[in-house]
Amino acid sequence: MFQKILIANRGEIACRVIATARRLGIASVAIHSEADKEALHVARADEAWPVGPAPARESYLAIEKIIAVAKRAGAEAIHPGYGFLAENAGFAEACAEAGIVFIGPPPGAIRAMGSKASAKALMERAGVPLVPGYHGAAQDFATLREAVERVGYPALVKASAGGGGKGMRIVTRAEEIEDAIAGARGEARSAFGDDHLLIEKYLLAPRHIEIQIFADAYGHIVSLFERDCSIQRRYQKVIEEAPAPGMTAPGMTTPGMTEVLRQAMGEAACRVARAVGYVGAGTVEFIAEGEDFYFMEMNTRLQVEHPVTEMITGLDLVEWQLRVAAGETLPLAADQLSICGHAIEARIYAEDPAQDFRPSIGTLVHLREPRTGSQVRIDAGVRQGDAITPYYDPMIAKLIVHGKDRGEAVRLLAAALAQYEIVGVETNLGLLRAIAAHPDFACGKLDTGFITRHAEALLTPQVGGEDDPVLRAAAALALFADIRAETAAGAASSSDPFSPWAIADAWRMNGEGYQDLILRHEDRTETLRIHPERNGACRLDLAGGPVRAEAWEEAESGMALRLDGVLHRLRVVRHAGALIVIRNGRNHVFRIVDPLAPPAGEEAGSERLERDDRRRDRRRSESRGKTMTEGGIGERERSRPALVAPIPARVARVLVRVGAQVRKGEALIVLEAMKTEMTLVAPFDGEIVSLPYGVDAMVEEGAELVLFAAGEAAQISRA
Ligand code: ADP
Repeated sequence: MFQKILIANRGEIACRVIATARRLGIASVAIHSEADKEALHVARADEAWPVGPAPARESYLAIEKIIAVAKRAGAEAIHPGYGFLAENAGFAEACAEAGIVFIGPPPGAIRAMGSKASAKALMERAGVPLVPGYHGAAQDFATLREAVERVGYPALVKASAGGGGKGMRIVTRAEEIEDAIAGARGEARSAFGDDHLLIEKYLLAPRHIEIQIFADAYGHIVSLFERDCSIQRRYQKVIEEAPAPGMTAPGMTTPGMTEVLRQAMGEAACRVARAVGYVGAGTVEFIAEGEDFYFMEMNTRLQVEHPVTEMITGLDLVEWQLRVAAGETLPLAADQLSICGHAIEARIYAEDPAQDFRPSIGTLVHLREPRTGSQVRIDAGVRQGDAITPYYDPMIAKLIVHGKDRGEAVRLLAAALAQYEIVGVETNLGLLRAIAAHPDFACGKLDTGFITRHAEALLTPQVGGEDDPVLRAAAALALFADIRAETAAGAASSSDPFSPWAIADAWRMNGEGYQDLILRHEDRTETLRIHPERNGACRLDLAGGPVRAEAWEEAESGMALRLDGVLHRLRVVRHAGALIVIRNGRNHVFRIVDPLAPPAGEEAGSERLERDDRRRDRRRSESRGKTMTEGGIGERERSRPALVAPIPARVARVLVRVGAQVRKGEALIVLEAMKTEMTLVAPFDGEIVSLPYGVDAMVEEGAELVLFAAGEAAQISRA
C-alpha cells in the first residue's frame, strides 16, 4: 500500500479521499488554487501545495504543475477525484511517465470510453444493448438528418465528447433538425473542442440506472449493484439512490424479475468493463424503459453519487480504489456482496431553482448541517464562512441517508433536509424538500422527466410565513435581545452605567413599558410592540393579535421559544440588516426597518437594502414565468441599453457581431459559471453597437456584455 498520495482535486471529493487515506494511515497531499488557500480540503490534508491561480485550467487542470508537486512532495500515487483530470488519458499517461501511480483505469480504457460514439461502437461489438440511433464517423448534414429521420421523432442530437448534459438537443419535427445539429455542434466545439455528434432515439420517460463496477488488474470484475439517478435537472443528477426502487417495471409481473433485471444489467456492465480492459472503479450508465435497458456511456472514475453504493454495501469504495491501484486483488468476490437497506443521496447546490437553476455565489454566512450518524452522512467541501466562487462547481454538500427500506430512507431524507440551515447563497434545499415530500417520489415513481413534470409543485418559490406568529415573534425577540445587549454595552462604557436611560428594558416613566420594532417580511411592513414583563416573559402585539412569549433562549443549537405554552425550535441568523428565521430548513427573511434612519437613498446602507429589494422584486417577477436567460437590462437603460451579466462568469461564446440587427429572444452570448452554461438572449429587437468582452474574459456581476444602439430604450419601456 502507498505511504503518501496526492489528491488532484478540491471540495468534497478531496475531503472524501483524504478521510479514507487517513483511516488507512496514508499521508495526504492536497493541491489548491489561489482561491482555495483556506479551503476545507487544504485544512484536512497533511500537506497542501499551491498550484496556481483560481481558473481551473491554470491550477486544477495544470498537469505539469501537479506532477511536479507530486514528485517534490514524494507522493507515490495521485487520486484525481471526479471532474477536472479524472478522465484525462493524457494525465494518466503523464503520471506513468513520472513514475507515479494514477489511481484510476489504464489510459486506454479512459480513451475508449472518452467518446460516446466510439464507446457505443465498442459496446455494439460486445453485444451490449444500445439506444437505437447513429454513432458513425460520417458527420455531414445529410447523414445526420437521415439518421434522425430513421430513428424517428423525438430524436436526440448528442455531443460525442459530451458531459454534464452539454451539447444535447431534442428534435421533435423535421424543421428543427438543422438548428439542433448546428446548435449541438457549436456547443460541443466550444465546450469540448470536439464537434462530433451522434443521434439517439429520445426516450420520453426513461430512468437513468447505472451499475457500479470494480475491476482489479488480475481480471476480476464485480458489479456493486445499481443506482437510480433519474431525478435530474438539465440532464444533471440531483437525487440518486440505491437500490433502484422497484426495478420491476409495469408489465413485468414475473416474480423475481427485479433480480433477473439487476443481474442482466450487472452482467452487461461487467462485459463493458472487460471489453476495454478496465481496472478500478467505473460506472456503466444505462437508460432504462420498461424492461429494456440501453448502454449510454461509461464513466471511468469514481462518481459523485458513490456514497449510496457504500451505504448499501457497507464498503469504502475509495479504499477499494487505493487497494486496486496498489496492485492488490479485489477485496471481495461477487458472491460475498449483498445489498442492505436503502440509501438516498441529495446534492445540495448553491443555485436558484426558480431561476432555471442559476448558480449562486456568495459567502456561507451561516451553515449548520443535520446531525450525522450511522444513518445520516454528509460529504461536504465547505464550512461556515467559506465562499462559493464562480470558478468551480456550485455543490455545497451531499446528504446521504440509509434506511432499513426505502420508506425509512425517504423519511430520513426529509427529516435531515429540515435540519439543514444555510444563509448567504441561494440553495436548492426547497426543491429537495419538495421532492422528498412528493407522493410520486414516496412511491418510487421516478423517471428523468420528474422535475419538469412536477415543476409547478417543486419549483414555485415557497413564500409566505407572514401570517405565522411564531416566525414574527422569533424575529422580534431576537432583535429585542440585540437592542438590549447593545444598549447595555453602551451603558457600561458611558459615564453613568446606572442611569435609568441606559437600561434597555423598555422602561417608561409612566405606565406600561413597551418597545416598538418594525420588520418587513416579503412585501409587508409591520410594527410589533413588545411588552417585557418583570419575570422575563414578554407580551407581543402582532397584527393578528397578542401572543405571550414565556421564555426564549438562543443557544448554539438554535432558539427555543415557548409561545402561548408551546415550545418551538428555530434559528435566527443576523445578516445584512435582516433577521433570517430558519424553521424546518426554510429561510424567512425579516428586514429590520430603522424608524430613525433617513429615507431610503440618502445613506449607503439603506441604498443597499433598496437595491437588494429591487433585485428580489425583479427575481420574483422573473420567476413568475420569464426565463433567466434574458440576463439583466443595464442600469443605463435610458441612455444606452445594455445586456448585463447576471452573475460573475466566464464568457464562453459570443454569438453575434457588432453591427448585427438582432431579434428579441435571439441568443447573444453564452456565459459559463461553475460548470453551468447560460445563454443570454436579446431582451428586444435592436442593433448591437459594442461587445466589450471577448471569449474567455472573466466578467463581474453587472458587467455590460452587449450594448445596443441608443433609442432601443423606448422599446424596452414599451415591452
Ligand atoms: P452527459 O455525459 O452529458 O451526462 P449522458 O449521455 O450521460 O450525458 O446523458 C445525461 C442524461 O440525459 C441522462 O441521464 C438522461 O436523463 C438524458 N438522456 C441521455 N440520452 C437520452 C435518450 N436517448 N433519451 C432520453 N434521455 C436521454
